[in-house]
Amino acid sequence: MTGPRTEGARAFLATGPKGFWIGGAWRTAPATFATHDPATGAELAQVGRAGAPEADAAVAAAGAALASPGWADMLPAARAALLWRIADLIEAEADALAEIEVLDQGKTWATARHAEIPGAIGQFRYYAGWATKITGETIRPSIGHAPPGRHAVAHTLREPIGVVAAIVPWNSPLLMAAMKLAPALAAGCTLVLKPAEETPLSALMLADILDRAGLPPGVVNVLTGYGEEVGAALAAHPGVAKLTFTGSTETGRALVGAARGNLKKLTLELGGKSPAVVMADADLDLTVPGVARGVFANAGQVCVAGSRIYAHRSVADQLAEALAAHARGLRLGHGLADGTDLGPLVGPGHRDRVAAYVDEGRAAGAEVLSGGPSDLGPAFFAPAVLTGVRGDMRLMREEIFGPVATVTPFDDAEEAVALANDTDYGLAASVWTESLSTAHRMSAALRAGTVWVNAHSYFSPELPKGGRGLSGWGVENGAQGLENYLETKTVCIVV
Ligand code: NAD
Repeated sequence: MTGPRTEGARAFLATGPKGFWIGGAWRTAPATFATHDPATGAELAQVGRAGAPEADAAVAAAGAALASPGWADMLPAARAALLWRIADLIEAEADALAEIEVLDQGKTWATARHAEIPGAIGQFRYYAGWATKITGETIRPSIGHAPPGRHAVAHTLREPIGVVAAIVPWNSPLLMAAMKLAPALAAGCTLVLKPAEETPLSALMLADILDRAGLPPGVVNVLTGYGEEVGAALAAHPGVAKLTFTGSTETGRALVGAARGNLKKLTLELGGKSPAVVMADADLDLTVPGVARGVFANAGQVCVAGSRIYAHRSVADQLAEALAAHARGLRLGHGLADGTDLGPLVGPGHRDRVAAYVDEGRAAGAEVLSGGPSDLGPAFFAPAVLTGVRGDMRLMREEIFGPVATVTPFDDAEEAVALANDTDYGLAASVWTESLSTAHRMSAALRAGTVWVNAHSYFSPELPKGGRGLSGWGVENGAQGLENYLETKTVCIVV
């Protein structure tokens, strides 16, 4: 069964061309483009192609909502309740939302329904808790020149940063949107959300949910369209105070330039080339499926994918063989079909890009133990395991964003750290060991925003997530994730 199964998904897709959600109302799009199911190539829907005029309208709506009494004066407890209501409504529609994510992106039902939609719900519930806990400080300043008999006291206010443009990628569309919306709303900001052109549908479903939850008009606006059109218009817009972006390093660089006009504050969650380091004492029964999940989950289209695997020489061959056997056992198919472990890549163009990295590696002397393009369809790629790679190969230096793992041996911990850190990225890393001492030493030495021990890709809204080097600027999740959307005002009073 590969068509929509839930009434919610069917009804949503049946409503015809999608418009823009601006100021609490649907606006008809003057131009549209198609979004497809990557597994079948079938067109799912026509969605609006926004440009600069829609960016202007959405930013104006968000600006008006920022100052509106319905939002600006909302009590923290009411804001918390609103965020919780959004989570409840997403939960009530979880099946339909998951189905739309599968159809639009290609991911498996299990990934969408049991990881990403719950992840989005978790974001709203976690930041609902923060809405009532935003506080400033009281400070006794060292100011000695107040008039005789008087002295200065001070306190800080934590204010919403303003209108936020949230631009998100296609790999986990609703979850990425929730990671931006939930903290921004808890902080009292208003937003314009732009989903990726490959996967615009769940953001449009979310707009309806936000409306039904009672979010005042204009607090969240949703514009679909291309990055270089509406994305660029938002990034350069003088009415946007904060740009929060998740996507590729290349686009992140472009946004740094686009944001300079009004010196927007930027959060950039970018790409990665993350290592998984398997020590000699690793429990391979835990490590093989764990490392495999770390690199092959969501068909490798995960920012933290542990694609560079380094294994102690005593276990490297065994690990590579076991990983390749695991990869060969993963069933490719439509994400909605029973038993599918791995869906297609997001589209045929991306599949060809992934295949080119593997072909180039093979031509340069790497051995391909498993994987490659699949005849299931032009977007399918069976998970690949390569050995005999060198650190200077393009596939070892650039983010592939597909199910491609390399296994490289090392002789001691020092060499493992040097190899793992030999990257311009620094998003995540994992260490596989039964030694507590090794776990601590290695996690201290690895240059990455997150280090897991005996796990890879474990996420929770409480856990800060950010990158070093080309992996970006700033941190999402946790208390620091809220800080992205607040600014401090100091009030100094002579009493
Ligand atoms: P992308 O950079 O091509 O696109 C991301 C978003 O930016 C899309 O909405 C796109 O329309 C928009 N965009 C593109 N060009 C733009 C421009 N000039 N101005 C404004 N907006 C523009 O990335 P992608 O291919 O959609 O996503 C994959 C990338 O995202 C990978 O590099 C992956 O590692 C990264 N990612 C990072 C994280 C993280 O948390 N660090 C999480 C998920 C994905």
